[in-house]
Amino acid sequence: PTNEPPEPLWRATGNNYAPDNPNSNRINATIISLVRNSELDDLVQSMTDLERTWNHKFNYPWTFFNDEPFTDEFKNKIQSLTKAEVRFELVPPEHWDAPNWINEDLFHQSADILAEQNVQYAHMLSYHKMCRWNSGMFYKHPALKDMQYYWRVEPKVHFFCDVDYDVFRFMQDHNKTYGFTINLYDSPQSIATLWPETVKFIADHPEYMNKNNALKWLTDSDRRPEHNKMANGYSTCHFWSNFEVGDLNFWRSQAYEDYFQHLDRAGGFFYERWGDAPVHSIALGLFEDKSKIHWFKDIGYQHIPFFNCPNSPKCKGCVSGRFTDGEAWLHKEDCRSNWFKFAQMGDEWTQ
Ligand code: GDP
Ligand code: MN
Repeated sequence: PTNEPPEPLWRATGNNYAPDNPNSNRINATIISLVRNSELDDLVQSMTDLERTWNHKFNYPWTFFNDEPFTDEFKNKIQSLTKAEVRFELVPPEHWDAPNWINEDLFHQSADILAEQNVQYAHMLSYHKMCRWNSGMFYKHPALKDMQYYWRVEPKVHFFCDVDYDVFRFMQDHNKTYGFTINLYDSPQSIATLWPETVKFIADHPEYMNKNNALKWLTDSDRRPEHNKMANGYSTCHFWSNFEVGDLNFWRSQAYEDYFQHLDRAGGFFYERWGDAPVHSIALGLFEDKSKIHWFKDIGYQHIPFFNCPNSPKCKGCVSGRFTDGEAWLHKEDCRSNWFKFAQMGDEWTQ
């Protein structure tokens, strides 16, 4: 394209991705993972897959986060799996702990009610903290200060396909904010007041709405009207955030910061079980131009029990087109087609 700026000098001076090349074509980006020491074996699996299919070609640094110090065993094992730089970071308590306006008795009472409605992890305080950290804190960690893009990885996931291009550079070159593989409906009981709080926020801040937003996707009720009803106006369809490739500057924006502060004050990370996936998805759907959200069709991925498995000779170990190897009812959790219907991306969605 003729309207692109000339290649920056650093792009011409280094054209190799050796881990220690200061002039490499890597951009400011890192793979990130929040993980517990006890999940070492599951993390080894995820990391081995991503190194084999992608990162051994590009050597992007890995940054690991934990609310407790990593053990030497953990660090030694992880460093042995990659030539790239590896960093181990402690999450500061002020980013992790429940804010002082959260009442512990009320948390437990609310959890009893959520548990009766079969909300998973209702009583597990650490899970609530994790969701809040992934919603409003991870990008504030000092270790990410100079980073612009991240790829989020969890323990026990799989990557199936050889990916032969620099995914981060792709994001930058195509002006993408966010990339996903899987779209799912959420448990509406876990987010009963998330949409009503969002509506209040928007009433106070109409200026944050993007002109090319995905509001129709967020509020759709065509396929599962009961979900929309129980979630008080939100379809519950979200980008499944255990996989994310994103631009940290979106989360660092004033719009997102104000939105997160509003949600945090409302208390739903503890009195309900708001996940970072619906929070991220709602923010992206409202504040971002929907053309900046990219489906990584070509990144074969599994987090139990769901897959994104492309039909390509580059993929090994998953069944092409298969969405789940779990029970039959899990198929209706898939809402990828909603995104393509409302984001109007036309023939990008063909499988
Ligand atoms: P699920 O995928 O929603 O079932 O939740 P996971 O148990 O996989 O947790 C999501 C991510 O957060 C994973 O990367 C976990 O390793 C991480 N995680 C969850 N709870 C904690 C915690 O208390 N401490 C740390 N360090 N990581 C956690
Ligand atoms: Mn998980």
